Amino acid sequence: MKQNDDRKTIFACFPHADDEISCVGTMANHITRGDRVVLCFATHGEMTSLMGDVPVEKIVSAREDHAQKVAKIIDCEIMFLDFEDTEVEITRKNAKKLAGVISEIKPDAIITWNSFHRHPDHRSMAQLLIDAVPMARIPRIVSPLGAHREDLTIFQYYDERALLPSIYVDVSDSIDKIKEVTNCYAETYGWVGAVENVVARRRSMGMDSDVQYAERFSILRRRHWARKFIV
Ligand SMILES: [Zn+2]
Repeated sequence: MKQNDDRKTIFACFPHADDEISCVGTMANHITRGDRVVLCFATHGEMTSLMGDVPVEKIVSAREDHAQKVAKIIDCEIMFLDFEDTEVEITRKNAKKLAGVISEIKPDAIITWNSFHRHPDHRSMAQLLIDAVPMARIPRIVSPLGAHREDLTIFQYYDERALLPSIYVDVSDSIDKIKEVTNCYAETYGWVGAVENVVARRRSMGMDSDVQYAERFSILRRRHWARKFIV
């Protein structure tokens, strides 16, 4: 475990369990380094048809089981919020709800979806977190929790339409955990070839960045730091 001063906190926040697959390697890297990772699902993904025609309670409990399995594989913390699946809307109220979670966790970085994905919950979550970060800085909004005024960068899943700088994360050491998490969902949902596809995508990003396997994120920074030299 790292000393308190160095220990970073990552808040990975998504609408649905299985959305986190694209950042499992990054989360695992941070946990291995001794950082705290809180993986948050805003809904219980209760509208899915992947499990067939089963009662909502059964889906909710299956989603919670999956989340616990992921937590065990990479050793992260798990939390669920009470948003409704397919109803994650960009409202001031929802942004304030997330601001409350941010001020409770006090993360150094957020990982989430981008604003281009076809699922409206994914796009809404990207925007809600953009809105929540400045709200978490306002004491009156997040009272009695203390405001979170530290520099907080949002890392969105990379999309080629994003006009933002991006980074590659070397996840070569975490590839087995990525496979294990993907397989956990693939077995339940009957995803054919999911593990191979996930590995192939990491390999492709690894080839772009000169490592074996990589994950890629767009970066939304509040502040930019000037440097004196460029090389
Ligand atoms: Zn999703």
